[in-house]
Amino acid sequence: MYDVVIIGSGPAGYVAAIRASQLGLNTVCVEESSDSDGNSQLGGTCLNVGCIPSKALLDSSHRYSDAIKHFSDHGIEVNKPKLDIAKMMDRKSKIVNQLTLGVSGLFKANKVTQVLGHAKIIDSNHVEVSSKKGSEILETKNIVIATGSSPINIPVAEINHKDIVDSTGALEFKTVPKKLGIIGAGVIGLELGSVWSRLGSEVTILEAMDEFLPMADKKIAKDVFKEFNKQGLNINLGCKVTSALSNKKDVTVTYENNGNLKELMVDKLIVAVGRKPNTDNLLGENCGLSVDEKGCIPVNDYCETNVQNIWAVGDVVRGPMLAHKASEEGIMVVERIAGKHAEMPYELVPSVIYTHPEVAWVGQTEEDLSASGIEFKTGSFPFAASGRALASGESTGFIKVIADKKTDTILGVHAFGPSAADIVQQAVVAMEFGASAEDLGLTIFSHPTVSEALHEAALAVNGQAIHIGNRKK
Ligand code: FAD
Ligand code: AMP
Repeated sequence: MYDVVIIGSGPAGYVAAIRASQLGLNTVCVEESSDSDGNSQLGGTCLNVGCIPSKALLDSSHRYSDAIKHFSDHGIEVNKPKLDIAKMMDRKSKIVNQLTLGVSGLFKANKVTQVLGHAKIIDSNHVEVSSKKGSEILETKNIVIATGSSPINIPVAEINHKDIVDSTGALEFKTVPKKLGIIGAGVIGLELGSVWSRLGSEVTILEAMDEFLPMADKKIAKDVFKEFNKQGLNINLGCKVTSALSNKKDVTVTYENNGNLKELMVDKLIVAVGRKPNTDNLLGENCGLSVDEKGCIPVNDYCETNVQNIWAVGDVVRGPMLAHKASEEGIMVVERIAGKHAEMPYELVPSVIYTHPEVAWVGQTEEDLSASGIEFKTGSFPFAASGRALASGESTGFIKVIADKKTDTILGVHAFGPSAADIVQQAVVAMEFGASAEDLGLTIFSHPTVSEALHEAALAVNGQAIHIGNRKK
Protein backbone atom coordinates (compact mmCIF):
# COMPACT_ATOMS: atom_id res chain seq x y z
CA MET A 1 0.00 0.00 0.00
CA TYR A 2 1.44 3.37 -1.05
CA ASP A 3 0.87 6.53 0.97
CA VAL A 4 0.33 8.52 -2.20
CA VAL A 5 -0.06 7.83 -5.91
CA ILE A 6 0.66 10.91 -8.00
CA ILE A 7 -0.74 10.86 -11.54
CA GLY A 8 1.40 12.92 -13.93
CA SER A 9 5.03 14.03 -13.73
CA GLY A 10 4.76 17.67 -14.86
CA PRO A 11 5.78 20.50 -12.51
CA ALA A 12 2.74 19.72 -10.34
CA GLY A 13 3.33 15.97 -10.14
CA TYR A 14 7.09 15.61 -10.01
CA VAL A 15 7.53 18.38 -7.45
CA ALA A 16 4.74 16.91 -5.31
CA ALA A 17 6.36 13.46 -5.57
CA ILE A 18 9.75 14.72 -4.43
CA ARG A 19 8.32 16.67 -1.50
CA ALA A 20 6.09 13.72 -0.54
CA SER A 21 9.13 11.49 -0.34
CA GLN A 22 11.06 14.11 1.62
CA LEU A 23 8.18 14.02 4.09
CA GLY A 24 8.56 10.27 4.49
CA LEU A 25 5.56 9.24 2.39
CA ASN A 26 5.84 6.07 0.34
CA THR A 27 5.30 7.68 -3.07
CA VAL A 28 4.72 6.52 -6.62
CA CYS A 29 4.44 8.77 -9.67
CA VAL A 30 2.62 7.45 -12.74
CA GLU A 31 3.46 8.97 -16.13
CA GLU A 32 2.03 7.83 -19.45
CA SER A 33 4.52 9.49 -21.82
CA SER A 34 7.54 7.45 -22.73
CA ASP A 35 10.80 8.25 -24.50
CA SER A 36 12.29 6.37 -27.46
CA ASP A 37 13.92 3.86 -25.07
CA GLY A 38 10.57 3.04 -23.50
CA ASN A 39 11.31 4.85 -20.22
CA SER A 40 8.98 7.40 -18.62
CA GLN A 41 9.32 10.83 -20.21
CA LEU A 42 9.19 12.93 -17.05
CA GLY A 43 8.64 16.68 -16.73
CA GLY A 44 5.24 17.10 -18.40
CA THR A 45 4.34 19.94 -20.71
CA CYS A 46 6.64 22.41 -18.99
CA LEU A 47 9.94 20.59 -19.48
CA ASN A 48 9.15 18.83 -22.75
CA VAL A 49 6.98 21.10 -24.89
CA GLY A 50 6.30 24.23 -22.83
CA CYS A 51 8.24 26.59 -20.57
CA ILE A 52 11.73 25.23 -21.19
CA PRO A 53 11.89 24.63 -24.96
CA SER A 54 10.02 27.89 -25.61
CA LYS A 55 12.49 29.80 -23.43
CA ALA A 56 15.43 28.10 -25.16
CA LEU A 57 14.12 29.31 -28.52
CA LEU A 58 13.21 32.74 -27.17
CA ASP A 59 16.76 33.14 -25.93
CA SER A 60 18.39 31.88 -29.16
CA SER A 61 16.15 34.00 -31.37
CA HIS A 62 16.74 37.06 -29.19
CA ARG A 63 20.50 36.71 -29.61
CA TYR A 64 20.10 36.36 -33.37
CA SER A 65 17.88 39.40 -33.71
CA ASP A 66 20.05 41.40 -31.29
CA ALA A 67 23.09 40.64 -33.44
CA ILE A 68 21.25 41.87 -36.53
CA LYS A 69 19.48 44.88 -35.05
CA HIS A 70 21.43 46.12 -32.07
CA PHE A 71 25.09 45.09 -32.09
CA SER A 72 25.98 48.07 -34.27
CA ASP A 73 24.42 50.43 -31.65
CA HIS A 74 27.25 49.26 -29.40
CA GLY A 75 29.87 49.83 -32.08
CA ILE A 76 30.12 46.14 -32.90
CA GLU A 77 30.01 45.44 -36.61
CA VAL A 78 29.43 41.85 -37.62
CA ASN A 79 28.72 40.22 -40.95
CA LYS A 80 25.08 39.22 -41.35
CA PRO A 81 24.62 36.38 -38.84
CA LYS A 82 23.85 33.00 -40.37
CA LEU A 83 21.05 30.97 -38.96
CA ASP A 84 21.53 27.25 -38.29
CA ILE A 85 18.02 26.18 -37.28
CA ALA A 86 18.99 22.53 -36.89
CA LYS A 87 21.67 23.50 -34.36
CA MET A 88 19.28 25.83 -32.55
CA MET A 89 16.72 23.02 -32.25
CA ASP A 90 19.41 20.58 -31.18
CA ARG A 91 20.50 22.94 -28.40
CA LYS A 92 16.87 23.17 -27.25
CA SER A 93 16.48 19.37 -27.26
CA LYS A 94 19.68 18.89 -25.26
CA ILE A 95 18.43 21.29 -22.59
CA VAL A 96 15.10 19.46 -22.45
CA ASN A 97 16.88 16.08 -22.15
CA GLN A 98 19.20 17.34 -19.44
CA LEU A 99 16.27 18.57 -17.38
CA THR A 100 13.99 15.56 -17.87
CA LEU A 101 16.85 13.19 -17.02
CA GLY A 102 17.48 15.43 -14.02
CA VAL A 103 13.94 14.75 -12.78
CA SER A 104 14.56 11.03 -13.19
CA GLY A 105 17.75 11.41 -11.12
CA LEU A 106 15.84 13.35 -8.46
CA PHE A 107 13.21 10.60 -8.30
CA LYS A 108 15.94 8.02 -7.71
CA ALA A 109 17.69 10.17 -5.11
CA ASN A 110 14.42 10.74 -3.28
CA LYS A 111 13.20 7.14 -3.62
CA VAL A 112 10.10 8.05 -5.62
CA THR A 113 8.84 4.96 -7.45
CA GLN A 114 8.19 5.59 -11.16
CA VAL A 115 5.50 3.71 -13.02
CA LEU A 116 5.03 4.03 -16.76
CA GLY A 117 1.45 3.88 -18.04
CA HIS A 118 -1.94 5.52 -18.23
CA ALA A 119 -3.59 5.92 -14.85
CA LYS A 120 -7.30 5.53 -14.22
CA ILE A 121 -8.85 6.11 -10.81
CA ILE A 122 -10.97 3.19 -9.71
CA ASP A 123 -11.84 4.54 -6.24
CA SER A 124 -10.13 6.60 -3.56
CA ASN A 125 -7.73 3.74 -2.77
CA HIS A 126 -7.10 2.15 -6.16
CA VAL A 127 -5.49 3.34 -9.39
CA GLU A 128 -5.31 1.15 -12.46
CA VAL A 129 -2.22 1.67 -14.62
CA SER A 130 -2.30 0.37 -18.19
CA SER A 131 0.69 0.13 -20.49
CA LYS A 132 1.97 -2.02 -23.33
CA LYS A 133 3.02 -4.50 -20.68
CA GLY A 134 -0.55 -4.90 -19.40
CA SER A 135 -2.28 -3.41 -16.42
CA GLU A 136 -1.72 -3.31 -12.68
CA ILE A 137 -3.63 -1.93 -9.73
CA LEU A 138 -1.84 0.38 -7.30
CA GLU A 139 -3.26 0.42 -3.79
CA THR A 140 -2.89 3.73 -1.98
CA LYS A 141 -4.05 5.87 0.92
CA ASN A 142 -4.11 9.08 -1.20
CA ILE A 143 -4.29 10.03 -4.87
CA VAL A 144 -3.02 13.30 -6.35
CA ILE A 145 -4.24 14.07 -9.86
CA ALA A 146 -1.65 16.15 -11.72
CA THR A 147 -2.51 15.26 -15.30
CA GLY A 148 -2.05 18.76 -16.71
CA SER A 149 -3.43 20.10 -19.95
CA SER A 150 -3.15 19.88 -23.74
CA PRO A 151 -3.60 22.41 -26.54
CA ILE A 152 -7.23 23.12 -27.49
CA ASN A 153 -8.02 22.08 -31.04
CA ILE A 154 -10.67 24.07 -32.87
CA PRO A 155 -12.64 22.42 -35.69
CA VAL A 156 -12.21 25.51 -37.91
CA ALA A 157 -8.43 24.99 -37.95
CA GLU A 158 -7.66 21.32 -37.55
CA ILE A 159 -4.08 20.47 -36.68
CA ASN A 160 -2.43 18.46 -39.48
CA HIS A 161 1.07 18.54 -37.94
CA LYS A 162 2.41 19.88 -41.24
CA ASP A 163 1.36 23.43 -41.95
CA ILE A 164 -1.33 23.78 -39.27
CA VAL A 165 0.27 23.10 -35.91
CA ASP A 166 -0.26 23.64 -32.19
CA SER A 167 2.32 25.05 -29.76
CA THR A 168 4.21 21.74 -29.75
CA GLY A 169 4.57 21.77 -33.54
CA ALA A 170 5.61 25.42 -33.45
CA LEU A 171 8.64 24.47 -31.35
CA GLU A 172 9.80 22.07 -34.07
CA PHE A 173 9.77 23.97 -37.39
CA LYS A 174 12.73 22.87 -39.50
CA THR A 175 12.84 26.06 -41.54
CA VAL A 176 11.72 29.60 -40.87
CA PRO A 177 8.25 30.08 -42.40
CA LYS A 178 8.17 33.06 -44.73
CA LYS A 179 4.64 33.96 -43.71
CA LEU A 180 3.41 32.73 -40.36
CA GLY A 181 -0.16 33.05 -39.06
CA ILE A 182 -1.06 32.62 -35.41
CA ILE A 183 -4.58 32.21 -34.02
CA GLY A 184 -4.71 33.71 -30.53
CA ALA A 185 -2.83 36.64 -28.99
CA GLY A 186 -2.49 34.96 -25.58
CA VAL A 187 0.82 34.38 -23.83
CA ILE A 188 1.76 31.35 -25.96
CA GLY A 189 0.83 33.06 -29.25
CA LEU A 190 2.91 36.10 -28.35
CA GLU A 191 5.95 34.13 -27.23
CA LEU A 192 5.97 31.82 -30.25
CA GLY A 193 5.22 34.73 -32.56
CA SER A 194 8.24 36.55 -31.12
CA VAL A 195 10.52 33.56 -31.72
CA TRP A 196 9.66 33.20 -35.40
CA SER A 197 9.39 36.90 -36.09
CA ARG A 198 12.93 37.40 -34.75
CA LEU A 199 14.15 34.56 -36.94
CA GLY A 200 12.68 36.25 -40.01
CA SER A 201 9.02 35.22 -40.40
CA GLU A 202 6.41 37.78 -41.38
CA VAL A 203 4.01 37.15 -38.49
CA THR A 204 0.29 37.92 -38.42
CA ILE A 205 -1.65 37.23 -35.24
CA LEU A 206 -5.45 36.98 -35.40
CA GLU A 207 -7.24 37.47 -32.09
CA ALA A 208 -11.01 37.13 -31.72
CA MET A 209 -11.33 39.51 -28.77
CA ASP A 210 -11.31 43.28 -29.21
CA GLU A 211 -9.18 43.73 -26.11
CA PHE A 212 -5.48 42.91 -26.00
CA LEU A 213 -4.15 41.13 -22.86
CA PRO A 214 -7.33 41.76 -20.83
CA MET A 215 -5.73 40.29 -17.70
CA ALA A 216 -2.87 42.84 -17.69
CA ASP A 217 -2.68 46.46 -16.56
CA LYS A 218 -4.50 48.57 -19.19
CA LYS A 219 -1.64 51.01 -19.84
CA ILE A 220 0.88 48.18 -20.05
CA ALA A 221 -1.35 46.25 -22.48
CA LYS A 222 -1.56 49.39 -24.65
CA ASP A 223 2.21 49.94 -24.64
CA VAL A 224 2.93 46.26 -25.24
CA PHE A 225 0.55 46.21 -28.21
CA LYS A 226 2.33 49.21 -29.73
CA GLU A 227 5.81 47.83 -29.08
CA PHE A 228 5.10 44.33 -30.41
CA ASN A 229 3.56 45.71 -33.59
CA LYS A 230 6.69 47.87 -33.94
CA GLN A 231 8.82 44.75 -33.54
CA GLY A 232 7.00 43.09 -36.44
CA LEU A 233 4.21 41.12 -34.77
CA ASN A 234 1.23 42.23 -36.77
CA ILE A 235 -1.49 41.78 -34.11
CA ASN A 236 -5.08 42.04 -35.37
CA LEU A 237 -7.82 42.27 -32.75
CA GLY A 238 -11.51 41.50 -33.31
CA CYS A 239 -10.58 38.87 -35.91
CA LYS A 240 -12.30 35.53 -35.37
CA VAL A 241 -10.93 32.74 -37.52
CA THR A 242 -13.73 30.82 -39.24
CA SER A 243 -11.71 28.40 -41.38
CA ALA A 244 -8.18 27.37 -42.27
CA LEU A 245 -7.66 25.34 -45.39
CA SER A 246 -4.36 23.75 -46.19
CA ASN A 247 -3.33 22.82 -49.69
CA LYS A 248 0.15 21.50 -50.30
CA LYS A 249 1.64 24.97 -50.85
CA ASP A 250 0.07 27.19 -48.22
CA VAL A 251 -2.80 27.75 -45.80
CA THR A 252 -5.76 30.01 -46.49
CA VAL A 253 -7.09 31.45 -43.27
CA THR A 254 -10.54 33.05 -43.34
CA TYR A 255 -11.58 35.33 -40.53
CA GLU A 256 -14.42 37.62 -39.59
CA ASN A 257 -13.66 41.22 -38.77
CA ASN A 258 -16.39 43.83 -38.19
CA GLY A 259 -18.90 41.66 -40.02
CA ASN A 260 -16.62 41.23 -43.07
CA LEU A 261 -14.96 38.00 -44.13
CA LYS A 262 -11.26 38.42 -44.87
CA GLU A 263 -8.49 36.10 -46.02
CA LEU A 264 -4.89 35.61 -45.05
CA MET A 265 -2.44 33.35 -46.88
CA VAL A 266 0.36 31.87 -44.79
CA ASP A 267 2.98 29.12 -45.10
CA LYS A 268 2.36 27.88 -41.59
CA LEU A 269 -0.41 28.45 -39.09
CA ILE A 270 -0.03 28.08 -35.32
CA VAL A 271 -3.24 27.45 -33.38
CA ALA A 272 -2.67 28.97 -29.93
CA VAL A 273 -6.22 29.31 -28.61
CA GLY A 274 -5.67 28.00 -25.11
CA ARG A 275 -5.34 24.67 -23.33
CA LYS A 276 -7.78 22.12 -21.92
CA PRO A 277 -7.40 19.94 -18.81
CA ASN A 278 -6.33 16.29 -19.38
CA THR A 279 -9.03 13.96 -18.02
CA ASP A 280 -9.50 11.44 -20.87
CA ASN A 281 -10.13 7.97 -19.48
CA LEU A 282 -8.89 9.14 -16.07
CA LEU A 283 -11.99 9.00 -13.91
CA GLY A 284 -13.36 5.50 -13.41
CA GLU A 285 -17.15 5.16 -13.40
CA ASN A 286 -17.42 4.64 -9.67
CA CYS A 287 -14.65 6.95 -8.43
CA GLY A 288 -17.11 9.70 -7.49
CA LEU A 289 -15.36 12.45 -9.47
CA SER A 290 -16.54 14.39 -12.49
CA VAL A 291 -15.38 17.46 -14.36
CA ASP A 292 -16.93 20.95 -14.40
CA GLU A 293 -18.19 22.86 -17.46
CA LYS A 294 -14.60 23.91 -18.33
CA GLY A 295 -13.36 20.33 -18.12
CA CYS A 296 -11.47 21.02 -14.86
CA ILE A 297 -11.62 18.79 -11.80
CA PRO A 298 -13.42 20.88 -9.17
CA VAL A 299 -11.35 21.55 -6.03
CA ASN A 300 -11.42 23.90 -3.05
CA ASP A 301 -8.58 26.24 -2.01
CA TYR A 302 -6.67 23.26 -0.59
CA CYS A 303 -6.99 21.30 -3.85
CA GLU A 304 -9.29 18.77 -2.19
CA THR A 305 -11.80 17.18 -4.57
CA ASN A 306 -15.28 16.10 -3.49
CA VAL A 307 -13.88 12.62 -2.75
CA GLN A 308 -11.90 12.23 0.46
CA ASN A 309 -8.19 11.43 -0.09
CA ILE A 310 -8.31 12.42 -3.77
CA TRP A 311 -6.65 15.73 -4.57
CA ALA A 312 -6.07 17.55 -7.86
CA VAL A 313 -3.42 20.17 -8.71
CA GLY A 314 -1.93 22.16 -11.59
CA ASP A 315 -3.43 22.74 -15.03
CA VAL A 316 -6.17 20.16 -14.47
CA VAL A 317 -7.83 22.46 -11.90
CA ARG A 318 -9.07 26.08 -11.93
CA GLY A 319 -6.70 29.02 -11.97
CA PRO A 320 -3.91 30.17 -14.24
CA MET A 321 -2.14 27.45 -16.22
CA LEU A 322 1.34 28.19 -14.91
CA ALA A 323 4.15 25.87 -13.87
CA HIS A 324 4.93 27.63 -10.58
CA LYS A 325 1.26 27.62 -9.55
CA ALA A 326 1.15 23.90 -10.36
CA SER A 327 4.28 23.11 -8.32
CA GLU A 328 3.19 25.09 -5.29
CA GLU A 329 -0.21 23.39 -5.30
CA GLY A 330 1.57 20.03 -5.47
CA ILE A 331 3.69 20.92 -2.45
CA MET A 332 0.71 22.23 -0.49
CA VAL A 333 -1.24 19.02 -1.06
CA VAL A 334 1.46 16.55 -0.01
CA GLU A 335 2.27 18.66 3.05
CA ARG A 336 -1.39 18.46 4.03
CA ILE A 337 -1.37 14.70 3.38
CA ALA A 338 1.62 14.52 5.75
CA GLY A 339 -0.45 16.36 8.37
CA LYS A 340 1.24 19.74 8.07
CA HIS A 341 -0.41 23.12 7.77
CA ALA A 342 -0.01 24.44 4.22
CA GLU A 343 -1.92 26.82 2.02
CA MET A 344 -1.50 28.64 -1.30
CA PRO A 345 -1.31 32.42 -1.46
CA TYR A 346 -3.30 32.43 -4.72
CA GLU A 347 -3.36 36.23 -4.83
CA LEU A 348 0.43 36.21 -5.14
CA VAL A 349 0.87 33.95 -8.18
CA PRO A 350 2.97 36.04 -10.58
CA SER A 351 2.38 36.07 -14.36
CA VAL A 352 5.04 36.57 -17.01
CA ILE A 353 5.14 36.91 -20.78
CA TYR A 354 8.72 36.12 -21.80
CA THR A 355 8.87 38.43 -24.77
CA HIS A 356 11.43 41.17 -25.17
CA PRO A 357 10.89 43.31 -23.24
CA GLU A 358 9.19 41.05 -20.74
CA VAL A 359 5.75 41.68 -19.31
CA ALA A 360 5.14 40.63 -15.70
CA TRP A 361 2.74 41.31 -12.89
CA VAL A 362 1.55 40.18 -9.52
CA GLY A 363 -1.52 41.05 -7.48
CA GLN A 364 -4.37 43.24 -8.54
CA THR A 365 -4.79 45.73 -11.36
CA GLU A 366 -6.30 49.20 -10.97
CA GLU A 367 -9.40 47.84 -12.73
CA ASP A 368 -9.73 44.92 -10.25
CA LEU A 369 -9.44 47.31 -7.31
CA SER A 370 -11.90 49.85 -8.70
CA ALA A 371 -14.39 47.04 -9.33
CA SER A 372 -14.05 45.92 -5.69
CA GLY A 373 -14.35 49.48 -4.42
CA ILE A 374 -10.88 49.45 -2.82
CA GLU A 375 -9.19 52.85 -2.72
CA PHE A 376 -5.61 52.84 -3.93
CA LYS A 377 -2.68 55.02 -4.95
CA THR A 378 -0.11 54.30 -7.64
CA GLY A 379 3.50 55.12 -8.43
CA SER A 380 5.13 54.56 -11.83
CA PHE A 381 8.68 54.77 -13.08
CA PRO A 382 9.81 54.61 -16.71
CA PHE A 383 12.83 52.50 -17.63
CA ALA A 384 13.91 55.44 -19.79
CA ALA A 385 14.90 57.10 -16.48
CA SER A 386 16.92 54.09 -15.26
CA GLY A 387 20.67 54.50 -15.72
CA ARG A 388 21.23 50.76 -16.10
CA ALA A 389 18.39 50.33 -18.60
CA LEU A 390 19.83 53.15 -20.69
CA ALA A 391 23.35 51.71 -20.45
CA SER A 392 22.01 48.42 -21.78
CA GLY A 393 19.92 50.05 -24.51
CA GLU A 394 16.80 48.53 -22.91
CA SER A 395 14.81 51.58 -21.90
CA THR A 396 11.35 50.65 -23.24
CA GLY A 397 8.52 50.30 -20.73
CA PHE A 398 7.72 51.17 -17.16
CA ILE A 399 6.85 49.73 -13.79
CA LYS A 400 3.82 50.52 -11.68
CA VAL A 401 3.32 49.89 -7.98
CA ILE A 402 -0.23 49.99 -6.61
CA ALA A 403 -0.76 50.38 -2.87
CA ASP A 404 -3.74 50.63 -0.54
CA LYS A 405 -4.65 54.30 -0.16
CA LYS A 406 -4.80 54.20 3.66
CA THR A 407 -2.47 51.39 4.77
CA ASP A 408 0.12 51.77 1.97
CA THR A 409 0.20 47.93 1.65
CA ILE A 410 1.32 46.89 -1.82
CA LEU A 411 -1.63 45.41 -3.73
CA GLY A 412 -0.15 44.97 -7.20
CA VAL A 413 3.01 45.46 -9.24
CA HIS A 414 2.95 45.59 -13.03
CA ALA A 415 5.99 45.82 -15.28
CA PHE A 416 6.86 45.98 -18.94
CA GLY A 417 10.56 46.28 -19.52
CA PRO A 418 13.99 44.71 -19.10
CA SER A 419 14.05 41.77 -16.64
CA ALA A 420 10.43 42.51 -15.73
CA ALA A 421 9.95 38.92 -14.53
CA ASP A 422 12.84 39.11 -12.06
CA ILE A 423 11.87 42.56 -10.87
CA VAL A 424 8.28 41.55 -10.25
CA GLN A 425 9.60 38.51 -8.40
CA GLN A 426 11.17 40.88 -5.87
CA ALA A 427 7.76 42.45 -5.41
CA VAL A 428 6.26 38.99 -4.85
CA VAL A 429 8.70 38.46 -1.97
CA ALA A 430 7.89 41.87 -0.52
CA MET A 431 4.14 41.25 -0.83
CA GLU A 432 4.46 37.78 0.74
CA PHE A 433 5.78 39.58 3.82
CA GLY A 434 2.98 42.17 3.67
CA ALA A 435 5.26 45.04 2.64
CA SER A 436 4.05 48.59 2.18
CA ALA A 437 5.26 50.88 -0.61
CA GLU A 438 7.22 52.69 2.08
CA ASP A 439 8.97 49.41 3.06
CA LEU A 440 10.16 48.96 -0.53
CA GLY A 441 11.15 52.62 -0.63
CA LEU A 442 13.28 52.11 2.51
CA THR A 443 15.02 49.07 0.98
CA ILE A 444 18.49 49.53 -0.53
CA PHE A 445 18.70 48.52 -4.19
CA SER A 446 22.11 47.99 -5.84
CA HIS A 447 23.13 50.64 -8.31
CA PRO A 448 23.07 50.44 -11.24
CA THR A 449 20.43 47.75 -11.67
CA VAL A 450 17.15 47.77 -13.56
CA SER A 451 15.55 46.73 -10.26
CA GLU A 452 16.04 50.29 -9.07
CA ALA A 453 12.97 51.08 -11.18
CA LEU A 454 10.92 49.10 -8.64
CA HIS A 455 12.44 51.14 -5.83
CA GLU A 456 11.62 54.37 -7.61
CA ALA A 457 8.06 53.28 -8.48
CA ALA A 458 7.51 52.36 -4.82
CA LEU A 459 8.85 55.76 -3.77
CA ALA A 460 6.63 57.40 -6.38
CA VAL A 461 3.54 55.93 -4.66
CA ASN A 462 4.09 58.50 -1.92
CA GLY A 463 5.51 61.24 -4.16
CA GLN A 464 9.14 60.57 -3.20
CA ALA A 465 10.76 59.26 -6.39
CA ILE A 466 14.19 60.76 -6.93
CA HIS A 467 14.76 60.37 -10.64
CA ILE A 468 11.46 61.65 -12.03
CA GLY A 469 10.24 65.18 -11.95
CA ASN A 470 6.67 64.63 -10.78
CA ARG A 471 7.19 64.49 -7.05
CA LYS A 472 4.14 65.25 -4.96
CA LYS A 473 4.48 67.51 -1.91
P1 FAD B 1 1.71 19.04 -17.28
O1 FAD B 1 3.01 19.72 -17.31
O2 FAD B 1 0.84 19.12 -18.49
O3 FAD B 1 2.01 17.51 -16.91
C1 FAD B 1 1.01 16.55 -16.83
C2 FAD B 1 1.63 15.17 -17.06
O4 FAD B 1 0.65 14.19 -16.77
C3 FAD B 1 2.07 14.92 -18.49
O5 FAD B 1 3.40 14.45 -18.49
C4 FAD B 1 1.11 13.84 -19.00
O6 FAD B 1 1.72 12.94 -19.92
C5 FAD B 1 0.74 13.13 -17.71
N1 FAD B 1 -0.58 12.48 -17.75
C6 FAD B 1 -1.76 13.01 -18.16
N2 FAD B 1 -2.76 12.14 -17.99
C7 FAD B 1 -2.20 11.02 -17.45
C8 FAD B 1 -2.73 9.77 -17.03
N3 FAD B 1 -4.03 9.49 -17.07
N4 FAD B 1 -1.86 8.84 -16.56
C9 FAD B 1 -0.54 9.10 -16.47
N5 FAD B 1 0.01 10.27 -16.84
C10 FAD B 1 -0.82 11.22 -17.31
N6 FAD B 1 4.12 28.08 -17.59
C11 FAD B 1 4.92 28.89 -16.87
O7 FAD B 1 4.74 29.03 -15.66
N7 FAD B 1 5.95 29.60 -17.48
C12 FAD B 1 6.18 29.50 -18.80
O8 FAD B 1 7.12 30.12 -19.31
C13 FAD B 1 5.37 28.67 -19.57
N8 FAD B 1 5.57 28.54 -20.90
C14 FAD B 1 4.81 27.70 -21.63
C15 FAD B 1 5.03 27.59 -22.99
C16 FAD B 1 4.28 26.74 -23.77
C17 FAD B 1 4.54 26.63 -25.25
C18 FAD B 1 3.26 25.95 -23.14
C19 FAD B 1 2.44 24.98 -23.96
C20 FAD B 1 3.01 26.04 -21.78
C21 FAD B 1 3.77 26.93 -21.01
N9 FAD B 1 3.55 27.08 -19.64
C22 FAD B 1 4.33 27.95 -18.92
C23 FAD B 1 2.48 26.35 -18.93
C24 FAD B 1 3.07 25.16 -18.17
O9 FAD B 1 3.75 24.31 -19.05
C25 FAD B 1 1.96 24.41 -17.44
O10 FAD B 1 1.23 25.31 -16.63
C26 FAD B 1 2.52 23.30 -16.58
O11 FAD B 1 3.25 22.37 -17.34
C27 FAD B 1 1.40 22.59 -15.83
O12 FAD B 1 1.94 21.58 -15.05
P2 FAD B 1 1.12 20.26 -14.68
O13 FAD B 1 2.07 19.43 -13.89
O14 FAD B 1 -0.18 20.64 -14.10
O15 FAD B 1 0.79 19.55 -16.07
P1 AMP C 1 -4.81 31.99 -24.08
O1 AMP C 1 -6.06 31.28 -23.58
O2 AMP C 1 -4.29 33.05 -23.17
O3 AMP C 1 -3.75 31.01 -24.50
O4 AMP C 1 -5.22 32.77 -25.40
C1 AMP C 1 -5.89 32.17 -26.49
C2 AMP C 1 -6.53 33.27 -27.31
O5 AMP C 1 -7.06 32.73 -28.51
C3 AMP C 1 -7.69 33.97 -26.60
O6 AMP C 1 -7.37 35.33 -26.46
C4 AMP C 1 -8.88 33.74 -27.52
O7 AMP C 1 -9.72 34.88 -27.61
C5 AMP C 1 -8.22 33.47 -28.87
N1 AMP C 1 -9.07 32.71 -29.81
C6 AMP C 1 -9.80 31.58 -29.54
N2 AMP C 1 -10.47 31.15 -30.65
C7 AMP C 1 -10.16 32.01 -31.67
C8 AMP C 1 -10.53 32.11 -33.07
N3 AMP C 1 -11.32 31.24 -33.68
N4 AMP C 1 -10.00 33.15 -33.79
C9 AMP C 1 -9.15 34.04 -33.21
N5 AMP C 1 -8.80 34.00 -31.91
C10 AMP C 1 -9.27 33.00 -31.13
